[in-house]
Amino acid sequence: MPHRKNIFFYGKHTPVYEEKIKEFKVLATQQGFTVVEDVSEANIIASVGGDNAFLQAIRKTNFRDDCLYVGVSIDDVGFYTDFTAQDPMIMLEAMKNEEVEVRRYPTIEVTIDEDKPFYCLNECSIRSNVIKTFVIDVYIDDLQFETFRGDGMIISTPTGSTAYNKSVQGAIVDPLLPSMQVSEIASLNNNQYRTLGTSFILSGERTLSLQVVQDGNDHPIIGLDNEALSIRHSKELKIKLSGKHIKVLKLKNNSFWHKVQRKFL
Ligand code: NAP
Ligand code: MN
Repeated sequence: MPHRKNIFFYGKHTPVYEEKIKEFKVLATQQGFTVVEDVSEANIIASVGGDNAFLQAIRKTNFRDDCLYVGVSIDDVGFYTDFTAQDPMIMLEAMKNEEVEVRRYPTIEVTIDEDKPFYCLNECSIRSNVIKTFVIDVYIDDLQFETFRGDGMIISTPTGSTAYNKSVQGAIVDPLLPSMQVSEIASLNNNQYRTLGTSFILSGERTLSLQVVQDGNDHPIIGLDNEALSIRHSKELKIKLSGKHIKVLKLKNNSFWHKVQRKFL
């Protein structure tokens, strides 16, 4: 019997979701789990909803590395949600055998102007909030690599590679590779501004630094997964792999590549 017993359910406060969560709570209790209402007492956190709900559950519970996260969707399974509300017993059985079926997803750490860091499971994006380009000096470790001018950039984790990153033609990265991918959003290329023009993937040993050139045209908005950060006049973003992993319960025979195939092919 595993040591994890205290389960917290996270979901939208709408009648449909509240009804589902009520059913789950009864079933979980019958299966020997303790349902907790205070998330600090939880060692299992179950999000009820889509990938959006899962990302929100992680953020609202501060990227806990001492908890097992479980994603349950109401209809179709997603990238973070392996289980569906149609058969909650599959999820409860998997929770009892967590040793065998747990994924560890890398996260990235974003430090803005030397403040306290933020974490992302999908990506950090920085983009112009006005109909004007802005300029970023891009550093890889201490190397001034390129000067970007355009709409913005996306720095994604391997699991985030199937989301925003994919929409700008970034590569899909196996989450077993601890890495981060840097992708451009509409770069302007001319004799003055030259960028690589393709996405690139950095190892977990590297730090990416984005320095926003303060020329009066800079109005960036920063996205951390599905949340926007309203920080005005951000000058420097330092981004690296955090070393913190999110442990996620997986269904048997449902690898990352099964999901990619199911969703896109
Ligand atoms: P949204 O705009 O309502 O939905 C974005 C879609 O992406 C939803 O279908 C969502 O699934 C799906 N999604 C989330 N994480 C994913 C992942 N790792 N792999 C594949 N698909 C994923 O925004 P949201 O639901 O709040 O999700 C936030 C994410 O949206 C951001 O982290 C970013 O990756 C993505 N996004 C994409 C674009 C773009 O492609 N142009 C622009 C902005 C943001 P569910 O329906 O299950 O929630
Ligand atoms: Mn959504």
